[in-house]
Amino acid sequence: MVSALRLHNTLGRRMTDLAPLEPGHVRMYTCGPTVYNVVHIGNLRTFLFEDVLRRHLLAKGFRVTQIMNLTDVDDKTIRGAKEEGLSLPEFTAKYVESFFRDIRRLNLEAAERYPKATEHVADMIALIETLQKRGHTYASDGSVWFRISTFPGYGKLSQIDLTQTRRGERVAEDEYEKEDVKDFALWKRGKPGEPVWPSPFGDGRPGWHIECSAMSMKYLGRHFDIHTGAVDNIFPHHDNEIAQSEAATGEPFVEIWLHAEHLVVDGEKMSKSKGNFFTLDDVLARRDDAAAVRYLFLSVPYRRKLNFTWDALSGAAAAVDRIRSAAARIEEVAASGVEKPGAFGAGERGSGFLGEFFAAMDDDLNTSEALGALFPFLRDVNTAIDEGSLDAAGARTALDAIRSADRVLGVLPSAPEALPAEIEGQIEARNAARGRRDWAEADRIRAALAARGILLEDGPSGTRWKKA
Ligand code: AMP
Ligand code: ZN
Repeated sequence: MVSALRLHNTLGRRMTDLAPLEPGHVRMYTCGPTVYNVVHIGNLRTFLFEDVLRRHLLAKGFRVTQIMNLTDVDDKTIRGAKEEGLSLPEFTAKYVESFFRDIRRLNLEAAERYPKATEHVADMIALIETLQKRGHTYASDGSVWFRISTFPGYGKLSQIDLTQTRRGERVAEDEYEKEDVKDFALWKRGKPGEPVWPSPFGDGRPGWHIECSAMSMKYLGRHFDIHTGAVDNIFPHHDNEIAQSEAATGEPFVEIWLHAEHLVVDGEKMSKSKGNFFTLDDVLARRDDAAAVRYLFLSVPYRRKLNFTWDALSGAAAAVDRIRSAAARIEEVAASGVEKPGAFGAGERGSGFLGEFFAAMDDDLNTSEALGALFPFLRDVNTAIDEGSLDAAGARTALDAIRSADRVLGVLPSAPEALPAEIEGQIEARNAARGRRDWAEADRIRAALAARGILLEDGPSGTRWKKA
């Protein structure tokens, strides 16, 4: 019996056991980047939390369908394109590319789909028409608004106190007229010189919130399991998504809402507008170790603020080095072929470690506690190697345990592929040459392999290879 994954549901502010609506299959939507600029490491912290959630769900044996949108039309993208004299798609393509490059470098697993807003305008128009038919909208000045007073549960996610807002007062915001401060735009009238799409409401473009409702329901169905973002998405974005989606379908929209706390610098949220941000390039220019960044993010559970400092990054890099060198040392024993069952019970110790590790992950993705279980395990295995009580079979068992944990952590290099038999033969031939002290032949084989990108390292337990 697999234990349940408990998650802190922002809706209702309580711990909830995950029970997928479709047994065995978790459908989740993660709000993606607005592609008007290179993402900063604050954004990446949120994306990494979503990656860890995904990896843990897969490790638990669930099938996962994850959708992450790309917001490629809004005020910021339109302004940026205009400033650079580019078309909107030309402008956003650069940042879509840099986003994918960043998430690959951070070893984030790909979601099943990354739908773009501009490719789903028809779906958004259809959803707005449904809301219109059901009496939740009004038109004003060529724009279409969602009237929040028609949705009684409005604000249930953020638990906002609506009596504090000035009902009925007409306010101008973003040069659009609306009846209530909290009413929000579903469709925005086009302005001269801006990209527009034809629609039954006139030429214009979709609002930001409708994008996520339309694309999540298109790919995941009207009612799905998990929706994530950072805490700044709770209000108004996610409350608006709930209002639009539930008003349109008459059904519950999402079972579990998860929100990551912010990455902060000197106590302040890292953000583009404040100028206090680092990109992944900035960070890697100072310390070229993406796994250390990953580790740093994992070291603080997602619901706690993460204060970014260079010292913390150094600490994370040292921790990753400890994991890597322990794994390499264990690999050496595994490859040694020495089979002499020693005193160290790798099987028992390994499953004990994995039990603790995954129990921490099941406890609302407590990555810091999960990492806390890893180091005592590595220490024990290291001690066993020092004492000569770990044989090759035990080392393989220990490695399996480490790799199972790393399936979620993602900080170790991927396992080496099996060498083609032909290259293995070359290594054997070189060993034979060395055995008969034919150094010229041994060197020739080493150089020939190097030319093919295979590097050999001779150690006490034989020859190891790696790709250049
Ligand atoms: P944006 O591109 O601004 O829509 O942001 C993409 C994602 O990053 C959203 O889920 C934001 O809530 C999240 N985000 C923005 N700033 C931070 C931050 N400092 N720390 C963590 N997440 C953030
Ligand atoms: Zn969204």
